[in-house]
Amino acid sequence: MFRYSIQFIATVILCWVGFAFKPNGFLYSNLGMNNSKEANFGIAIHGGAGVILKQNMPDTLEKQYRMELTAALTAGYAVIEKGGTSLDAVQTAIVLLENSPLFNAGKGAVLTNSGTAELDASIMDGATGKAGAVGGLKTVKNPILAARKVMDNSPHVMMVSAGADAFAKEQGLEIVTPDYFITPARQKSLQKMQEEEKKAPPGTGGFIELSETASYKIGTVGAVALDKYGNLAAGTSTGGMTNKRYGRVGDSPIIGAGTFAANRTCAVSATGHGEFFIRNVVAYDIAALMEYAALSLTEAARRVIFEKLLPQGGTGGVIAIDNQGNITMPFNTQGMYRGMMSVKHPKPQVFIYQNQ
Ligand code: ASP
Repeated sequence: MFRYSIQFIATVILCWVGFAFKPNGFLYSNLGMNNSKEANFGIAIHGGAGVILKQNMPDTLEKQYRMELTAALTAGYAVIEKGGTSLDAVQTAIVLLENSPLFNAGKGAVLTNSGTAELDASIMDGATGKAGAVGGLKTVKNPILAARKVMDNSPHVMMVSAGADAFAKEQGLEIVTPDYFITPARQKSLQKMQEEEKKAPPGTGGFIELSETASYKIGTVGAVALDKYGNLAAGTSTGGMTNKRYGRVGDSPIIGAGTFAANRTCAVSATGHGEFFIRNVVAYDIAALMEYAALSLTEAARRVIFEKLLPQGGTGGVIAIDNQGNITMPFNTQGMYRGMMSVKHPKPQVFIYQNQ
């Protein structure tokens, strides 16, 4: 009798230990995965998709792009490697890209029809489902930080225009004069595009198809990450599209279109012709294909970019990471500035064209 009782108690203890430490068991998740050799973590970034061809790219410029992408990638990776959160990793990488005049976000943003910069950004926390977004900012040096403040310090998800600028200032973010964002290269693109616009056929209201013009400028930035605790995050920041007007807002600050993250599936940041990404709810659609159709991350993203967007003429791409640390970066344009780094591949890998 005594022997059976001991056996029974031992079995109960073994079951309890087994349950508590299984992945997602209560002790396992409370302890975190910091010291676990199995912890999967990683980050991917993009700096925009579009007509990017090796033959049109001066070597020195290509070098500079690769250098700045690598710097953003390694800075973001360092955050998660040291045990920081995926949200902080995403934010760190995006701030660096916003500060670079090469990319269409923060300094160096493309210009509106009236020659000003109007900036959009968003960030989402896959652990809590919380999100923050800003549209049409004119004075906040780092729009991604404003999006984060909306998420962390307000009951709202999205703020736009003067109100969003005022909120960011109240939150203590760095404010700059609107000319801080403007670069000669973007002024030239705007000028070129406006000249082409004069040739717009009658009946088009003076609009021309943005993606078909030589001066359609790319360079939106974004990041997605999985941290050691199994939490996903995504963020995107942009100046939108050259010559935009009437308060046009693209997909980048729209949760579900340009940015999405949910721990149960994946984190996604998009870049491309925003109107198509909004209409197709691209970032969420990828997560939904994983959740409801049980597709892998790679297959879900491929299907949306090539089978949904491409036939409609929706050009662009995404970077995405799933809750196992798998990364995919498909695009249907000639190129996409992009990079990835993970615990499985801890060397920064940066690509611009189709295969390199
Ligand atoms: N998606 C951005 C927008 O439409 C632009 C881009 O990614 O190039 O505002």
